[in-house]
Amino acid sequence: MKKKADIGLIGLAVMGENLVLNMESKGYTVAVYNRTTEKVDKFVNGRGAGKNFIGTHNIKELVNALESPRKVMMLVKAGAPVDALIDQLIPHLDKGDVIIDGGNSHFPDTMRRTKYVEEKGLLYVGSGVSGGEEGALTGPSLMPGGSKEAWPLIKDLFQDIAAKVDNIPCCDWVGEDGAGHFVKMVHNGIEYGDMQLISEAYHIMRDFVGLSHDEMHDIFNDWNKGDLDSYLIEITRDIMGYKENGEPLVEKILDAAGQKGTGKWTGITALDLGVPLTLIGEAVFARCLSAQKEERVEAAKILGSPIEKFKGDKTQFIKQIKDALFASKIVSYTQGYVLMREAAKEHNWNLNYGGIAMMWRGGCIIRSAFLKNIKEAFDKNPDLVNLILDSYFKTKVSEAINGWRQVVAQAVVNGIPVPTFSSALSYFDGYRTAKLPANLLQAQRDYFGAHTYERVDKPRGEFFHTNWTGRG
Ligand code: NAP
Repeated sequence: MKKKADIGLIGLAVMGENLVLNMESKGYTVAVYNRTTEKVDKFVNGRGAGKNFIGTHNIKELVNALESPRKVMMLVKAGAPVDALIDQLIPHLDKGDVIIDGGNSHFPDTMRRTKYVEEKGLLYVGSGVSGGEEGALTGPSLMPGGSKEAWPLIKDLFQDIAAKVDNIPCCDWVGEDGAGHFVKMVHNGIEYGDMQLISEAYHIMRDFVGLSHDEMHDIFNDWNKGDLDSYLIEITRDIMGYKENGEPLVEKILDAAGQKGTGKWTGITALDLGVPLTLIGEAVFARCLSAQKEERVEAAKILGSPIEKFKGDKTQFIKQIKDALFASKIVSYTQGYVLMREAAKEHNWNLNYGGIAMMWRGGCIIRSAFLKNIKEAFDKNPDLVNLILDSYFKTKVSEAINGWRQVVAQAVVNGIPVPTFSSALSYFDGYRTAKLPANLLQAQRDYFGAHTYERVDKPRGEFFHTNWTGRG
């Protein structure tokens, strides 16, 4: 074993343990520390036994075990523990050493911490880590951002432990200060959107078309071979096929969704930046509505249910559901990319949009074949303002549009809630409408609040007010 470790890790919980095992398997020596120090001994003598780990029992011992420039990664509960650990680490570190936060920190915290740590002469990295326990062990998607000078110091290790697709690591430098955690947050928001879209397809197939779980299993299996090829479609296929005492387990699960807040953060950020991130917003609200289970059960008795069974060509309709799912997914990623572009402008980040798609191609929950098409779109035009304007996505949406409209229309007529399918279609229709009714809205604002308006027959930037009532 080497005398000094290549990196130190604080936080031997689910993520930390698996990530350090991954690092060690790639030839790195890792010094480990955990606040509850029994966990250090348990790990070093358990899963880590006989491997290149150095167990340490306080921060000073951890720092002293590291090769210079030192790299210390925290994988602890997000929030106050991260700030507390930074303050404990700083007195022991030297200029040029790197503190890395691999937890699910909110990006404004990472922006603040980068500044704080840099002011002390140290370097700071906030890295999104996606893929859960298994990803941490076998290859996560890593989204590091922060002090740019830190990247050459951690690049080899990060890219060695990351997932690979076509031999390309799902990890690259994302951008300045909070950019890594920001991109991870958008990833999670997109994950909310993808999951809700698939759930709406399932709802229509189960309650309107009346398909069995075996039939849905085969449909998701089929969808997983084409444009929709993705981890979430794959696990949905498996869930459809999973039986308990001969019955599909999924129907035994309470329909009340939980959430930990990253989707909400994405929505709040979009509202702050004025970005129409409608699909992810609806996906978050759909979870909120699902959580009102008792109220919904009562409301169902009072308000009834208009659901009629589908009458028509099932094969054709299933193809249309696939079209609705794919086109809506394109809208979701389009909106997510617009959010990243606006945040980059706001925070002076130089984001690598194609590179972000590549980071999400493996290791993480939203991994899918279609991310390659996003990368290609940004390769063709790095300044692409909206993914739907790219020729590939424009063609795909135009091929899907009729089926998409049919599915939304049938769902609306028959009382199946499709908040993400329908909000995606409204966004698409709004985006491609040259004249929206916001002229009336501006007139109303001017009428009641003298907020003024611009005119189509005058240059932009000239503002007018009308005395709408003629009263003084
Ligand atoms: P966790 O349950 O979020 O956190 C537990 C770890 O934090 C333990 O090592 C605990 O030490 C430590 N900790 C808590 N408060 C502390 C404090 N004040 N000072 C020092 N250490 C403290 O663990 P996790 O699930 O492995 O997740 C780690 C981070 O990765 C989190 O930010 C999480 O959001 C993020 N993440 C998790 C997943 C996942 O699938 N679980 C996926 C991606 C990202 P003790 O043992 O002493 O309590």
